Amino acid sequence: MALFKDHYGKNSYYIDLQNVLARGGEGDICNIQGHPDKVAKLLHDNTPAPKMKALEKKITYMAERYESIPADLRKAVSAQITWPQAALIDASGHFRGYIMQKINGHETLDCAYSESQKAKSDFSFAEKIIIAKNLCVAVNIMHNKLHCVVGDFNAKNIMVSTKKGTVYLVDADSFHLQCTKEVRGRKVVDYMPAVVGRPEYLPKELHEYVIAQNAQLDSLPQPSFNQESDLFGLAIHIFQLLMNGAHPYGLMINPANKTSSISVSKTDISWAENIKKDRYVYSKAPEMIKRILHFQPPKYAPPYDVISSELQDLFERAFVVTGENVSKLSRQSGDGKYMSAPTVRPSASDWYFALKKFSEEVKSCPVNPKHQYSRNMPSCPWCQMGR
Ligand SMILES: [Zn+2]
Repeated sequence: MALFKDHYGKNSYYIDLQNVLARGGEGDICNIQGHPDKVAKLLHDNTPAPKMKALEKKITYMAERYESIPADLRKAVSAQITWPQAALIDASGHFRGYIMQKINGHETLDCAYSESQKAKSDFSFAEKIIIAKNLCVAVNIMHNKLHCVVGDFNAKNIMVSTKKGTVYLVDADSFHLQCTKEVRGRKVVDYMPAVVGRPEYLPKELHEYVIAQNAQLDSLPQPSFNQESDLFGLAIHIFQLLMNGAHPYGLMINPANKTSSISVSKTDISWAENIKKDRYVYSKAPEMIKRILHFQPPKYAPPYDVISSELQDLFERAFVVTGENVSKLSRQSGDGKYMSAPTVRPSASDWYFALKKFSEEVKSCPVNPKHQYSRNMPSCPWCQMGR
């Protein structure tokens, strides 16, 4: 047991360093004596000093923010986000990590994507819609109550309860935050940025910004991530939940339109590359036809009409950006676009209500209780796929 104090110097915590619950790339998760509902994330000793300093600032800000919000919101946050509740200071006065909610019986979200990982989860289509709705609730809290951004919105940072389908956003120290501070009487924006992100969950405009700045995510001039980039990632996860794990930019060559200039090895593999090239193969927009002519969805994707036309329209808004929306999303260093409310892609609540409506309308398969599908389909597509 080692003794730590919170950053206020008020409360003491005995942390069991011998029995590590989980080892991560950045730190270890340990139990706290007398606090069965909480855990400590302790950062590795070899964390470089500048990174440790940046994390101390971010975690302290987040913990103080947690203290300042109303009790009912704190409860909602604790139920969906492993938000830092206090920074931890060791006996020699150094920042070492933070306290957060303990979660049990959860797996990373990709366990719910397809049947191939049945060992971990076995959700019906209707349950996957509920998981998607729960994810929307968590993102809505992040954007509209806590005014921050997930940033690295990949499936490993989202946990789902294999029994209840409840969802947690985790790895809170990688979230993207900003605050306003006063410098010599002037209000300036201070960023505590996300510095990593899986490319297959980042929107085209962020890929383009990285290229234009000749930088990496960890050296990008701010603002980098924003709510629009989260909403792109959110749409991908909803798509994967509903479409048997198919990524919206996962595709294969359409044999009917194959030409010698298309190379399977290059185009078929990289989802991120297809994001950069706007190859959203499910699009019905006339201006997209040329771009996606040579491609088709992968074989494990169900017919697109398994979901309602309303959901298809939302995916179109999330993935097909044209006209003035292109300039609305593009960014330049210091342009302050982080602050502007998202107006291009569907918000978490847009998704929530469309998913709710869809869940009330789905047809159930007479053969397999795990099969549900849009009422616009004449028969069960999952049975036809042999699932
Ligand atoms: Zn069926």
